[in-house]
Amino acid sequence: MTFAITVDGSDTEVEATREHPTVKVGYIRVAGSFVDLERLMKAGAGPYIHPGEVRHAHSESAFDAALPGSGLVRKGVSGVDTWRQELDHFLANTRFDQDSPLTLADALLTMHGAPGKPAAQLTLRACPTCRAKDFDAGALPVVGRDGGNCPSCKSPLYLADVLRTHEEYVPEGSNQTALTRVMLVVERLMTLSYMEHFYTTVDTPEDVFRRTLFITDGPLGLFGVVAPLKRRLYEYHQSLYEWADSKGIAAPLLVGVEKTGRFVEHADLIADLIPEGAVMMLSTDYINRVTGRPAGNQYGTDEFYGRRFIYRTTSGDPLVITVPPKPGVLPYEGSGSEDFESYPTLRTVCEVLDSVRTRLYPNAVIPVALAHSAASLPLGVGQSVLRAMAQQGVGLPANTQIRYRSPYR
Ligand SMILES: [Zn+2]
Repeated sequence: MTFAITVDGSDTEVEATREHPTVKVGYIRVAGSFVDLERLMKAGAGPYIHPGEVRHAHSESAFDAALPGSGLVRKGVSGVDTWRQELDHFLANTRFDQDSPLTLADALLTMHGAPGKPAAQLTLRACPTCRAKDFDAGALPVVGRDGGNCPSCKSPLYLADVLRTHEEYVPEGSNQTALTRVMLVVERLMTLSYMEHFYTTVDTPEDVFRRTLFITDGPLGLFGVVAPLKRRLYEYHQSLYEWADSKGIAAPLLVGVEKTGRFVEHADLIADLIPEGAVMMLSTDYINRVTGRPAGNQYGTDEFYGRRFIYRTTSGDPLVITVPPKPGVLPYEGSGSEDFESYPTLRTVCEVLDSVRTRLYPNAVIPVALAHSAASLPLGVGQSVLRAMAQQGVGLPANTQIRYRSPYR
């Protein structure tokens, strides 16, 4: 194992201008962080950590997006349609990395296709405008890169409609929920873009996949209106796994690492019961008991594309991780979902995470900590800077610019 690629994001909703506090702008930053693990080990080999070596072992790529919140509309367009158009524009025009031509829209199409084979069109389950759902079989609304039209009401459809975040958009009040859903999907699209980049542009991609750990911040799951997309991610990873298997390797080495939440707290409570260097599978029975759900509850089947484990590192602290299963196995249902043999990448993933532990944050590993700092919005400098960035992003007219008053005058 030589490289770790970690994707992390952050989001916030701010007032568009001080004069109009009910007008909101959502702001997202997503960052990909690349760590050369060999070089990182070298940096820590002596009696002190070499900060220059750590810096050289690490590089990052980040992009920002501003999305319209409540009260911010395009001329002659409703708030929700402004949201749809701006989201679509963001996906179509944002490259996941400056050195690649692939956009987030490309990644979304690939997610609905297979490795190296992006889908030409996606099917929507409902029309955002007329809300028609009962289309005849074969007549479901489809969208391509350039959108489409509803077969029933003929209104324009956008590629971004497949995220369904418009269903959560509110014309008055906070759109933080929709904003966070977008961020989580974009994080997944960025990770998929790295995989796709290696798969399609490298001469022997198996050499890259053999040596690269892909880390996602948070569990390998999607929740709420974007949850159905998890099936696409699951299928993409399964195809990639089958290809890798034909090359004699177990890949992709993909892991979700959770920094906060119920299972992180639970892992801290029970850490002493797990031997150091051992991994604990959380059975569905166990999860139902811990979370206070009734016995027999179908946990995780609609949201997860990986299964959750607690790994206690050799230095004693617990990491809550999710790892995808091998082809033919679903993470939370059916036969094999609770067998260790169904997770052939688990051992390698744990070994790598063990080698990159950090005490910078609790329950963290170095690649995650670095990605987190790359993705962090500059909260320390106050919200007016964010507002200025957000205004640039959504192109508010110049007269709405904030007037900066120095506190020292
Ligand atoms: Zn329609």
